[in-house]
Amino acid sequence: MKPPHETMKPSHETMKPSQLRKSETIKSGDIFSGKKEPIVKLRKVSVIERFDFIVKKSWRQIFNAKCFVARCTWSIRATRMSTSSPEFLDGKYTDLHTCSTVIRYSRQRQANAKCIGQMYVEGFTGGSDLKGIRPKHIMDCIRVVYKLDISYTKAHSALAYARELVRGTHASGYRYLPSYLYKIKHANPGTITELELDAKKRFKYLFIAFGACIKGFPFMRRVIVIDGANLSGKYRGVMLVAACQDGNRGIYPIALGIVNAEDAAAWEWFFTQLRGVVGDGKNMAFISDRCPTIAKALTNVFPEADKGICLYHLG
Ligand SMILES: [Zn+2]
Repeated sequence: MKPPHETMKPSHETMKPSQLRKSETIKSGDIFSGKKEPIVKLRKVSVIERFDFIVKKSWRQIFNAKCFVARCTWSIRATRMSTSSPEFLDGKYTDLHTCSTVIRYSRQRQANAKCIGQMYVEGFTGGSDLKGIRPKHIMDCIRVVYKLDISYTKAHSALAYARELVRGTHASGYRYLPSYLYKIKHANPGTITELELDAKKRFKYLFIAFGACIKGFPFMRRVIVIDGANLSGKYRGVMLVAACQDGNRGIYPIALGIVNAEDAAAWEWFFTQLRGVVGDGKNMAFISDRCPTIAKALTNVFPEADKGICLYHLG
């Protein structure tokens, strides 16, 4: 399925700083699968050894990079092993810098957010899911181990990339949705889930009512509060909720939905699923804000139930 349109302490350092600083090396005779690999490796080396390089040639047959300081001898030149092979052979690698350290340490432009994010995952996370990690933590790790100061913006992008590496992308999350719903139903007997896709098999609507909430509903007052909340994140959307009040005046969740927008079609779809859970009848009431779309959809799906406006919105 395709998608719709406090600083924490270092969690599990897997390697010591001295080990991390030796973790990426290049030597003459190395073989790279394609010409992207030398760039990725060189970026890591440039973080570890604190310098910057310029890619002089990145062609089908040849890859050539030099230290950014003029006349420095550091350079790498890799050529394709044969015209039919995608592999590059590092034919000549001169790892000796003849430039001054003051100038060399002053620039690390190749150390981009993806490179930092990947190095952070490989060296600092120890398989954690990066929960609670903040950009500041990445800045601290990179500064302490590699003596490299990176901006907050770069650390923020690096963290986003690191999360993609560890958890998968936002888009891939939608692919897991059917199996996630299956597991929810398996772990919570009686749960009702509904997933609606559009004609192009992209996510459209989602409805979940947990089995335990469905079982408890007959013992609640049949006054159901309806509302929607805008979601942040890459694909946005709106979360629709139906809740009532338990005997202790606590909020009792009945069902939730994720839809693309708070429009008539989405509300009507959500209410149709909800009707399968709570039914309809004169002994039931719905409370919502003054949104006319909700009122119209409620009337269509729950013709018998009473409809009211929340006191706050009425005020
Ligand atoms: Zn140099």
